[in-house]
Amino acid sequence: MLMNSLLPNAFSSDVTSLIGGEIRPVSGHEIPVFYPATGQQIATLHEADETEIDLAVKAARRAFDKTDWPRLSVEKRQDILLKIHDTIVAHADELARLECLNLGVSMRELRERHVKRAAYNFRFFAEYISQTKGDVYDQTPGYRSLVVREPVGVAALIAPWNAPTALASMKVAACIAFGNTCVLKPSEQTPLALRRFVELLHEAGLPDGVVNIVNGRGAMTGEALVNHPGIDRISFTGGTTTGRRIMSQAGLRLKPCTLELGGKSANIVFASADLDRALDAALVSIYSNNGQQCLAGSRILLERSIADDFIGKFVERAGKIRIGDPMLDETELGPLASAAHRDRVLSFADIATSEGAELLIGGKAASLSGDLSGGYFIEPTAVLAKSNSAKVCQDEIFGPFAAFLTFDTYDEAIGMANDTQFGLVSYLWSDHLPTVEAASRDLKSGVVWVNTTMTRELRAPFGGYKDSGIGREGGQSSEQFYAEVKTVTIPT
Ligand code: NAD
Repeated sequence: MLMNSLLPNAFSSDVTSLIGGEIRPVSGHEIPVFYPATGQQIATLHEADETEIDLAVKAARRAFDKTDWPRLSVEKRQDILLKIHDTIVAHADELARLECLNLGVSMRELRERHVKRAAYNFRFFAEYISQTKGDVYDQTPGYRSLVVREPVGVAALIAPWNAPTALASMKVAACIAFGNTCVLKPSEQTPLALRRFVELLHEAGLPDGVVNIVNGRGAMTGEALVNHPGIDRISFTGGTTTGRRIMSQAGLRLKPCTLELGGKSANIVFASADLDRALDAALVSIYSNNGQQCLAGSRILLERSIADDFIGKFVERAGKIRIGDPMLDETELGPLASAAHRDRVLSFADIATSEGAELLIGGKAASLSGDLSGGYFIEPTAVLAKSNSAKVCQDEIFGPFAAFLTFDTYDEAIGMANDTQFGLVSYLWSDHLPTVEAASRDLKSGVVWVNTTMTRELRAPFGGYKDSGIGREGGQSSEQFYAEVKTVTIPT
């Protein structure tokens, strides 16, 4: 039974595409959308087929070719980006509520982290574009070469379910700030907040067709979008297997893509660290966002001399985490995003014990009462693994599930940290400068956070080594991806 009374007023429970500024009529394959805290269906997604994808790409192309968006002065484009920032801030509660209904992350975390970041992404790129510059080379006698950057065209932006608004807004803000247009495809599991987000872009004054949104499954809508001949760039965030497929398809058409993929990040705590801060951060980096984040510190590597004490305090704190209704600000751990995902995460508790790990806490579903009894809740979980080769230390579990390991030497710590297919981020806790310097150099990951957790600087590149991705997002990396460069040589 559809329970759409939880949706904000005026938000239709039939979610369709929004193309060229117009909401598309209800049609196509239907996909139920569930509220993970109760397990009830709250909306129905109407999948975009190839015809609708074609409409969306053509609308984006028209906006690129026939409107002045790519040719607007920096000041005018900045003006709209800043209005978008203000509009998102003004609708923060509404966006957080829609995201909560899709994702089950607490309203507090969604408002303070995800929606705030979504707004900031637009302010950041509004400021960034006023500082971009071209190059001039006078080295050839009698000639001058100017290197100019131009908008590319139409981008396909494909987002995952675990932080829809925060992640997709980064892609949209960068793409349009440099004068491009786009078609955005959210995950079929989490279409609600992003549909409203695109409406808000229009309310803030973005011309029709600059941002279009299509909904549907990856194998259908996603593939049709990636393979559409009108797409010039593909920016993808999601799983490593999907990333491989998208890149191979993009390769056939020689289309550049960036891939932000999975992770299994090491959180290394040396005995020389401020252990209280390291403990706070270890809990946040594995249990925030209900544990569903690419940059989770999911392998916690402890120097043996501090391990027993650290694990004891971690387990005590994890046992006090408030599991419950994500609509309430005091909730710290909400449900997982889907029933299938809950079952997959829980299966790792059995895998861990069959591999000889010690289950320290959790490992089972959390039972709540009333409406929440149908939700996909699990207890915060932690295991002490036998070795880094265990599945719980190698597979991306993507839930509130920490795996502890211990080490005796620096080489052992770095060796374990790097012994993974992934290389997204590393966390490093030590107050001993030579250790920090050496480890920052030796860790094979795109980001190393030293004595801090999840502190993202948008001017700096973000992305992974190895199977965690190709390309980077942020500042100059985004500019390079969303701009063509042209060298113009003229006699002087
Ligand atoms: P997913 O790969 O299943 O799906 C991601 C998106 O791709 C969805 O919109 C999906 O519909 C679409 N898709 C799926 N198959 C497709 C295809 N063949 N062609 C085109 N589109 C397709 O990933 P997910 O389960 O939604 O997200 C979780 C994964 O995302 C995790 O591995 C996580 O680590 C990763 N992630 C990475 C980052 C990062 O910045 N590196 C950030 C968040 C999430």
